[in-house]
Amino acid sequence: MFLCNLYAKVGGSPVPAATIMLDTLPCTLSLRLLDNALDAIVVIDEDGAIRYQNGAMQALSGYACGEALGQPLAGLLPAAMAEQHHRYVRAYLDSCKESTVLGQVREFAIRHRTGEMVPIGMKAIDLGIHEGKRYFGAFLEDLRARRRMQAEREALLAQLEKQALSDALTGLPNRRAFDAEAALTCARAARSGALTCVGIADIDFFKKVNDRYGHAAGDAVLASVAGLIGQASRATDFVARTGGEEFSLLFPGIGSDIALVVAERIRAAVEREPIVTPDGQQVSVTISIGLAQLAPGAPFAEALARADAALYEAKNGGRNLVCAR
Ligand code: GH3
Ligand code: MG
Ligand code: MG
Repeated sequence: MFLCNLYAKVGGSPVPAATIMLDTLPCTLSLRLLDNALDAIVVIDEDGAIRYQNGAMQALSGYACGEALGQPLAGLLPAAMAEQHHRYVRAYLDSCKESTVLGQVREFAIRHRTGEMVPIGMKAIDLGIHEGKRYFGAFLEDLRARRRMQAEREALLAQLEKQALSDALTGLPNRRAFDAEAALTCARAARSGALTCVGIADIDFFKKVNDRYGHAAGDAVLASVAGLIGQASRATDFVARTGGEEFSLLFPGIGSDIALVVAERIRAAVEREPIVTPDGQQVSVTISIGLAQLAPGAPFAEALARADAALYEAKNGGRNLVCAR
């Protein structure tokens, strides 16, 4: 324990206790320790030539000790980094200033023998002067596994986020996504004064589809209707599955006269297209659509309620209809 706090002065610079401990070991033991370290270790001289590398460094770079010895470390660095590295070393040797690089962990990539750029974290230290030459040592940590895990975690998060906002059966945005988009659309419309419409589409007599063809066929019909609505709407429209056989639509930038035309196109597309279920049955369905234009200053819920009332009207009017309020 007392060794941990022990510092001795050698040549004017403090030597940490660990160095003293190593000094008590035969050199071969210390070297064996370095050779087997988990992190890659490399020693370069002041000209940037590699003078020592351990086993982990050999694995990291792909170069055997015999090949690496005397070669410039810069050969492993990306071109821009190699240039920078050379300048850093020269500036450090020429001035007696403290280095802002030494002792810090920096992340960059080194070039493996195969050409693969391997992301690493590197901490370089000044090892001092030996027989008139200054030496630098560096510990390199292979960051590939960590980066891979990071990428996997990010992909998983993105997937979870997507799942939280989308409907698994149709792939359309779900009610949560629709509510968020509606709030955005409303805010934009309020700022710009642009006209905006909201619509609710509902499959007619869908219960009968389930009863006649089975629930699995019903699911396939739902997915196909979702696709047809998506194809027939404009790229700027927002289509979501917000209920069992109900879809909500946002039509930014248009008033109810044009929204009626778009909604009519959507209705006709569903009516026209016979749907083939996975077990080969052909099913034809229709949809009814209720439309409402956002009133300036009124809450979105008010327009949605009017669209719902218009849908009710379309259902009462015989279905396979578009009504606006
Ligand atoms: P209307 O024309 O008045 O809308 O009649 P409808 O039969 O379409 O309406 P209703 O509300 O009576 O029935 C809706 C049906 O939709 C009942 C429900 O079983 C079915 N449904 C809801 N979600 C799903 C689903 O995810 N898959 C399947 N296959 N059916 C669903
Ligand atoms: Mg229905
Ligand atoms: Mg319904």
